[in-house]
Amino acid sequence: MESRVILRHKTHSVNINTTTVGSQHPIVIQSMTDTNTADIDATANQIISLADAGSEIVRITVDNIEAAQAIPQIKNLLLKRGYNTPLVGCFHYNGHTLLTEVSECAEALDKYRINPGNVGVGNKKDKNFESIIKIAIKNNKPVRIGVNWGSLDQELLAKMMDDAVRLGFDNDEVIVNAMVESALSSATRAIDIGLATDKIIISAKVSQIPLLKRIYMELTRRSNYALHLGLTEAGMGIQGIVSSAAALSSLLQIGIGDTIRASITPAPGEARTNEVSVCKEVLQSLGLRRFTPSIISCPGCGRTKSDAFKTLTLETNKLIQNFLLENKDKYPDIESLKIAVMGCIVNGPGESKHADIGISLPGKGEDDIAVVFIDGEKIHTLKGNIFESFKEILLNYVERRFSTHRIIS
Ligand code: SF4
Repeated sequence: MESRVILRHKTHSVNINTTTVGSQHPIVIQSMTDTNTADIDATANQIISLADAGSEIVRITVDNIEAAQAIPQIKNLLLKRGYNTPLVGCFHYNGHTLLTEVSECAEALDKYRINPGNVGVGNKKDKNFESIIKIAIKNNKPVRIGVNWGSLDQELLAKMMDDAVRLGFDNDEVIVNAMVESALSSATRAIDIGLATDKIIISAKVSQIPLLKRIYMELTRRSNYALHLGLTEAGMGIQGIVSSAAALSSLLQIGIGDTIRASITPAPGEARTNEVSVCKEVLQSLGLRRFTPSIISCPGCGRTKSDAFKTLTLETNKLIQNFLLENKDKYPDIESLKIAVMGCIVNGPGESKHADIGISLPGKGEDDIAVVFIDGEKIHTLKGNIFESFKEILLNYVERRFSTHRIIS
């Protein structure tokens, strides 16, 4: 994959335990548990599976006293198992009470997420917000001010609606302005209370991509806070994956975003870790980070001779994933490997030459041979059991180029 330079909007860098977010640091992947937090083993196990999948920060619901009391135990269990993944407590409505009453929870968490739309109403809103920020200052923790359209501050929204009528704004403008205002005024208030700017991360999530883009562009225009990106309530299955990818990509491509999450609804029984895989694919496909070798394959068409092409693509994907699971440490930098598996002579040789190693299968009307290109040169012509031969060539190439024991000439 050619490297692409995307100029990132320069934000404050924020340390969250072992991970740094913002400025020019790599874009960080986040996820969130869906276990009952009070179930310590289940929650710790899910955090481990999310971390193993590549989640660099994990958010946990802290909604009642049992959940708050479980946090230090979850943290200890994770540390005992060798995981120091930054943990973010997600608070709504009663965060001020839980963080005050369970000081061990406030100490064990690496960041607090608060939603300005539901920290309280009337006079209590400011008081509750202030008490959370003061606890964050005392414990030296960063805070994410996470605005969400579904729970936007209703008093602020009502005021903005009045202004909108007076100024002739349309609905979308009201949403954009209200989301941005809620985030930035809350951040200013946190700073007035004493929180440092490099302890603040902002998110302002809606479920419509065009609005999301406008909101984040406005946040970027008006501030330098580190930004967490995500399309909220992205949906299930293909819809969730595509809409998350489209939303994240539209902003990442213009240099906006320091951490990301794909808020996909898992089907019953579906792995929670899929949301992490989506984030990795987004970052890798944009050339922003690399996690795994790229396998480029054509979609196949009327020129494709048989299903052998699909099988070879599938087997190559499996081969690489299994190989990585067992050997990743022995092959540093293997994620930069680019493989092409192509269905016929039309684009097969071209794509294969541009990959590190590529195979062009015979299409309809072509001789029953598959041509393998290595580093741009046609090296092998395969017949018979093409997959076994290609597998051997591929693994030899990996050994020669990426093994820690390779002989450097
Ligand atoms: S490379 Fe050949 S088989 Fe693959 S999509 Fe293109 S024309 Fe079809």
